[in-house]
Amino acid sequence: MHSNQNLLGRFAPSPTGPLHMGSLIAAVASYCDIKQKGGRWHVRIDDLDPPRTAVNACTSILQTLEAHGLISDLPIIYQSQRITAYRDALNQLMSYAFFCTCSRKQLEHFPVYPGTCRNNKERLENTSIRLSVGEQKLACHDLVLGTQEHELGKVFGDFVIQRKDGLTSYNLATAVDDAQEITHVIRGQDLYPTTPIQLLIMQRLKLSPPTYGHIPVLTYGDGRKLSKQTLAPAIDNGLATSNLIKVFTYLGMPVPNTDEWTVEQLLQWGIGNWDLSKVPSKLRPYSA
Ligand code: GLU
Ligand code: ZN
Repeated sequence: MHSNQNLLGRFAPSPTGPLHMGSLIAAVASYCDIKQKGGRWHVRIDDLDPPRTAVNACTSILQTLEAHGLISDLPIIYQSQRITAYRDALNQLMSYAFFCTCSRKQLEHFPVYPGTCRNNKERLENTSIRLSVGEQKLACHDLVLGTQEHELGKVFGDFVIQRKDGLTSYNLATAVDDAQEITHVIRGQDLYPTTPIQLLIMQRLKLSPPTYGHIPVLTYGDGRKLSKQTLAPAIDNGLATSNLIKVFTYLGMPVPNTDEWTVEQLLQWGIGNWDLSKVPSKLRPYSA
């Protein structure tokens, strides 16, 4: 494997709780994918939303990653420390943006934002900032899902880039952080719908997008996604090797049977055998 320092993958958990099997799958997939290409892997903590940030979740996430041999090759980035970068981006986007005074209640019956405040170019109290999407069509090229064209106006409407409480939206922060240096984003298909929005932001900021691959998400037998809301159990760091073996099995790469795997050997095996095309289009349902 030759090193290719220009390639950079990432795993970007929100510190809302400990990692579960679904998040570990995304972490391992992004890690093996970029390492196989000789690139580097970066951990970013998406901690922009203090009300949703769980105490100790950050430490717990980083401990779990470390226990599974998943070490960031670059200093960990915290979105909460990148406010200036997001403000600069917001300023650059203002010519396409407007101030929205609509309440959640006013919007609840509209499938997409109806454009009510599109002409509000002056900042008012207690407003969010939305980006006008206009008639734009955008093609997403995805290593797993292929190319799909999205009509942003019909599917999303003008979307929020800064919330009423002044916080940068997930999509703006993620677009700024994933553009340019990150070359490969391998993440769960639950995040696929955000991709056209993030691509539009990158396009308007004249930033080059990464390559995307959205892998299927881990669900219970009844189809619900593993998440904090569905009470997905936290990863047990004491079972790191068997967790990794499970992860590779879910990903369609069953690990040869031996008792002697170490975490490091498993990751090396995973890097060597990584093949995005082997990932099943639907993962086997989760079982504890
Ligand atoms: N922080 C987001 C989450 O945990 C995911 C970010 C991303 O991979 O784009 O849901
Ligand atoms: Zn509005």
